[in-house]
Amino acid sequence: MPRKKKTDEDGENIPASSSATIQLQTMSKTPQLVKGMKDILPVDQELWGHIRDTATKIATQYGFGRIDTPIVESTTLFTHSVGKQTDIVEKEMYTFEDQGGDNLTLRPEFTAGIARAYIEHGMLNMPQPIKVFTIGPLFRHEKPQADRYRQHHQFDCEVIGEANPAVDAQLILMAFKLYKTLSLPVILHINSIGCLSCRGTYREVLAEYYRTKRSQICEDCKRRLLKNPLRLLDCKEEQCQPIKAGAPQIIDYLCEECKSHFEKVLEFLDVLEIPYSLNSHLVRGFDYYTRTVFEFYLLQNDEDTPSLALGGGGRYDNLVEVLGGRPTPGCGFGLGIERIVNRLKQVLHDGGEIALPPHAPVDMFLAQLGEQAKRQAMVLFEDLVTEGFAVAEGFVKDSLKAQLELANKLNVRFTLILGQKELLDGTIIIRNMEGGEQEVVDIKKIIPILKKKIESVSEDSYLNL
Ligand SMILES: [Zn+2]
Ligand SMILES: [Zn+2]
Repeated sequence: MPRKKKTDEDGENIPASSSATIQLQTMSKTPQLVKGMKDILPVDQELWGHIRDTATKIATQYGFGRIDTPIVESTTLFTHSVGKQTDIVEKEMYTFEDQGGDNLTLRPEFTAGIARAYIEHGMLNMPQPIKVFTIGPLFRHEKPQADRYRQHHQFDCEVIGEANPAVDAQLILMAFKLYKTLSLPVILHINSIGCLSCRGTYREVLAEYYRTKRSQICEDCKRRLLKNPLRLLDCKEEQCQPIKAGAPQIIDYLCEECKSHFEKVLEFLDVLEIPYSLNSHLVRGFDYYTRTVFEFYLLQNDEDTPSLALGGGGRYDNLVEVLGGRPTPGCGFGLGIERIVNRLKQVLHDGGEIALPPHAPVDMFLAQLGEQAKRQAMVLFEDLVTEGFAVAEGFVKDSLKAQLELANKLNVRFTLILGQKELLDGTIIIRNMEGGEQEVVDIKKIIPILKKKIESVSEDSYLNL
């Protein structure tokens, strides 16, 4: 029966050929990566994985459990903890109203969200302190520049529920250990910003000092002077630097308890042989910090080269209470992963070496010849992968030569070859890539045979060590 001519719903004849084809809506300009953002490409994943694995291993060794809090939190969590008059809250947060009208923010730091989780899940009732770590992205709308991304990642550790200075020292030791394990020489900058009572005294002294220099400071500082004088020490404007350098130092105004806490932290650092430099202007850009604050800098031969902190942290003995929980001390740090990655890349670029863990080797390559054999090989591939073998394949290639070339490049020990003849015989070829010798085996027995071969290979390499 001859086919009817195609018609559309109105019964009109559709003109022959391609009128029913959907037209692609192509963009005239390819969308670009959002400013300040970064793709982490497959080529960099090994380095990233190495850093994440090392960090996770250290955290686990020190008794930290992993926590993952959401990227999105309510905006008030950060305005109340980080502080309204901080650069982060004033200028750098990704804040938006969602479809339901809730005011939300992409987390600019980890500590506030973790403190929220501590309160919300009643962790106060568990044995104290709570020791948690996390690794993930943070968002700050900063001016993009080398080493500074608007989405960046941190390795973060927090100890909540313990005020002892040993905690501060042990956290610093862990961060130090990570850098050391990654062969990055760092120096610790450390300061104490006191507690609510002694900081109050210092704030008045500092404000008094700045009031006498009011005509020489930048507009931001004039505002800071009125609203949040401690932030004066955050100023990076050129004109304010000499004034900052002459400012009274908080260390001279610490109360007895804060002074003793700080001395104990430093004593621990001395015993642990962690190199540090006292930095009286270090206040960190968050309002929730109390007492110990610290940052890590790359130890460079050229002392004058200004560098960004690789990471930092501090104590926050009022944070949980500020967020509505019971008074609970805490201390933690966050280390920027991009900054570590970029430093390590620089080491590689300069011809240095980084001890990356050995590649998990690909056990074998599965080659096929002919359409039928290809279908059967796909089934076999699934069986091999399910058995736990690491298998490479060349399903998109038809020529055996091209597949063997690929197998050579991957440096596999064995190549399995399934051709038309083998398919008919129910066999498969195992080719030893080192010597080139081949054996034909029953395809039904291939898995136990391969297991035996791979086992003997790993024994060999064990003996070679
Ligand atoms: Zn104090
Ligand atoms: Zn200023």
